[in-house]
Amino acid sequence: MSDTRSAAETIRALDTGLFIDGKWVPAESGATFAVVNPATGEAIATVADGGAVDARRAIETAAATQESWASTSPRSRSEILYRAHRLIMDRADELALIMTTEMGKPFAEAKGEVAYGAEFFRWFAEEAVRIGGDHTTTGDGANRIVVTKEPVGPCVLITPWNFPLAMGTRKIGPAIAAGCTMVFKPAELTPLTSLALAGILTEAGLPNGVLNIVTTNDPGPVVTEWMTSGLARKLSFTGSTAVGKLLLEQAAGTVMRTSMELGGNAPFVVCADADIDRAVDGAMVAKMRNMGEACTAANRIFVHRSVAEEFGRKLTEKMSALRVGDGTADGTQVGPLVEEKALTKVRELVDDAVSRGATVMCGGTAPDGPGYFYPPTVLTDVSAESDLMSTEIFGPVAALIPFDDEDEVLRLANATPWGLVGYLFTQDIDRALRLSSKLEVGMVGLNTGLVSNPAAPFGGVKESGLGREGGRVGIEEFLETKYLAIPRT
Ligand code: NAD
Repeated sequence: MSDTRSAAETIRALDTGLFIDGKWVPAESGATFAVVNPATGEAIATVADGGAVDARRAIETAAATQESWASTSPRSRSEILYRAHRLIMDRADELALIMTTEMGKPFAEAKGEVAYGAEFFRWFAEEAVRIGGDHTTTGDGANRIVVTKEPVGPCVLITPWNFPLAMGTRKIGPAIAAGCTMVFKPAELTPLTSLALAGILTEAGLPNGVLNIVTTNDPGPVVTEWMTSGLARKLSFTGSTAVGKLLLEQAAGTVMRTSMELGGNAPFVVCADADIDRAVDGAMVAKMRNMGEACTAANRIFVHRSVAEEFGRKLTEKMSALRVGDGTADGTQVGPLVEEKALTKVRELVDDAVSRGATVMCGGTAPDGPGYFYPPTVLTDVSAESDLMSTEIFGPVAALIPFDDEDEVLRLANATPWGLVGYLFTQDIDRALRLSSKLEVGMVGLNTGLVSNPAAPFGGVKESGLGREGGRVGIEEFLETKYLAIPRT
């Protein structure tokens, strides 16, 4: 693994301007903002701080490029994605180091995200050449119906900070495959990975103007410019439900297509008949991936009272054995949280749960700085009234709630406006099928703590979102259906 000095060198070598029409340019205002390493609290780079004027240039470029890009062959778009996939994998160490340094996840986990993120490009390289249509006749036989799929048009892509590479490739991959141009705004906490990705796509042969990136420390004006431009035809957003709702209102203004991947509040249900060791392993993945900073994170762990003591003890053993530290250091398993605000929020949620009667099995107290570290924490007997039951914890805190029967756990699991993912551990096939169908979620992990995969349709119900990313339906989000009526003569 590279050391801190080479992390600094890697980051220094990046272009940090706005990326518009294939060129790196400063913000029109000349402004920049700092990117901070959450393990140290120190600035590691400054990037261009774009505004509405820059946003306008970016969307005009995307609109002007749409027609020529849409007319390229599916095979040529596929080849760009294959080449970009290869380049990402060849530079896995470099990209992982950038991610670890800008958002904190341990280097080994960042490398896992590189492989996961790259795979979206390979998956959509394969989809680009399989865009289908349909051909039928009307019921009375008078007309032929020819159905084609067209690129939806210029897209607005907005991503969060927690998976800086994969959240981008999950949108850029299908947009390229479908023949859509893009304006892209990565999260202000983690712009560097996206800038590195732009360099890779250029090297892979992506024409100028197809992907345009505006980094900014003030997302409102930039995104509003795009949403009200009348030039963008599609919004693909991943982030919090609160911001998602705001953007849905803006999308209504020009009736834009939307794909919304929003927040979660995942229930993790351990039934009395579960294989407890397997459930503990599953909980470690579902809870601790990305230090708990994942929309898929197990937020509420419901454990049948008859196995609650055993599950709690075994989970505590594993959680307290995790090594916390700077993600670039060898052996680190848990990095810092992304920023001070996140640390304060986790602290407050734990304090609230404890004040309502929860027992701290391990962790529960943040160390002094520097860095925004919080230790792996297990809380048992968490009250249903605790704030963390209705808030995304987004930290390494496992909240265990005992339950007595199926009806009760279903009622508790579904008592939330979110519905992204649920996890279920049971060895009884009938119970597995019954509970899976009754959980109000878009995805169920059955005896597994990991559902994310480029080949699977990722997404949620209720306030967790609209549409799906990845899988066979992923490209559909970037395509319009057009139909030709042709009289039969
Ligand atoms: P966030 O909503 O604060 O930010 C997401 C993006 O929206 C960022 O790029 C941000 O700059 C931008 N944004 C913020 N305010 C905006 C505004 N007023 N107008 C336009 N854009 C604005 O979310 P976050 O803190 O970056 O990410 C964490 C959230 O993302 C969590 O709720 C998590 O569950 C969710 N998430 C969901 C998925 C999923 O696939 N469902 C995946 C990852 C993260």
